[in-house]
Formats: sequence, structure tokens, C-alpha cells
Amino acid sequence: MHGIPERHLERLWIAGAAGLRPRKVAKDLERAVAARLDRHPESSERPQEGDLTVPLGGLSVGEPNETMYEVVAQTTQYLPVEKPRYLMGVGTPLDIIEAVARGVDMFDCVLPTRNARNGQLLTSEGPVNIKNAQYAEDDGPADPACKCYTCRNFSRAYLRHLYMAGEMTGGTLNTLHNLSFYLDTMSRIREAIAFGRFEDFRQGFHRTFTRRALI
Ligand SMILES: [Zn+2]
Repeated sequence: MHGIPERHLERLWIAGAAGLRPRKVAKDLERAVAARLDRHPESSERPQEGDLTVPLGGLSVGEPNETMYEVVAQTTQYLPVEKPRYLMGVGTPLDIIEAVARGVDMFDCVLPTRNARNGQLLTSEGPVNIKNAQYAEDDGPADPACKCYTCRNFSRAYLRHLYMAGEMTGGTLNTLHNLSFYLDTMSRIREAIAFGRFEDFRQGFHRTFTRRALI
């Protein structure tokens, strides 16, 4: 048995359709994917053999993190190594790192921009909810480890003031930082992989980036 709940197996269909006649697909997994395809043969979303990337979809829709990680791991082992694997709609910084650890290359997500507009900054120490009163007189940057325009020029206190005043500039500056944080994190992941120390990076990230209060 593959050990994946049936409702999550259904979500493997995109990967299974991506020309992945996987090299050594476990028979039960292959049957589950094939059954899904049989039920939805008309889908226009079905990737084609010549696609440049292999998308994995239907995850990160409320299932427990560990279930998502397990399904990603079960899926990527059957994907062709020569094509980038793209996990759609994921995710938090920790989810991204855990997906990379399981063989995913590319992501997209509204989280950094949406959360920025809602006053949440993703930082090297974890999420910072800028509306909290504790930042009212905080002269430090959003993230001391960040070199982005927002962190170089504005304090947490000022970002909080903009948010509380309903100034759109606050959302823009927060967005600049969050996107910088994501791009910087991906850059650090690539560097860690290139130098053979991804596992150290992964463990260090888990130590410093807390899961507290992601919104
Ligand atoms: Zn920044």
C-alpha cells in the first residue's frame, strides 16, 4: 500500500498526467492516478508530454502540513529528473524548504503579497505582525538580516504607523520586503544545494523561523 489517503491520491492527477509515465511507478499509485484520469479525461488543464515543467497541484488546500509533505515526496520520486517540478500555490517559507527537500524546484503563492497587505512581514526570525503595539516605538528594520529597500529606509514603527493609518504605502513597502525575503530565501536554498549543505540550511531555518501566527 502507498499509505496515502484516497482523497489526497486524487490530487496527484496532474503529476500523473504530465507525461510522467513514471519510470518505476508503484502499481497501486499508478492505478490511483489512472483512475483519476479516467474520471476526468476531458480536463483542459492536463499537461502535455512536451511541457517544460511538471506541475503538482491540489495541495496546500487545508490538509495537514505533514500530509502535504508526504504526498509531495511520494509524487516527486516518480517525476523525470530533467524537468523542473513546480508545486502550485505553495506556500509558507517552511513549506517551500520542506518541498525543496522532497525534490520540488519552483513555487508560486499569494502569501508574501497578501500577508504584506494585511500587515504581516515574513522575516528571518519568523512572521512579524506589524500592527502589534509592541512595534509602536521600534526603530529597528522589519528584518535586521534583510537588505531590501524597506529595511534599509524604514523602521518597524513607521511601517506600523502606515498600516494603522490605512496608508497604501504601507502595503507597498511590506510587499517589497516580503518578496525580497522570499527571493533571498530561494537564493540561499540554491546556494546551500550548490555547496552541498542544504540539510544544514534546512535545520538552521527551522531553528530561526518560527511558525508563530502566520495569517
Ligand atoms: Zn526587507
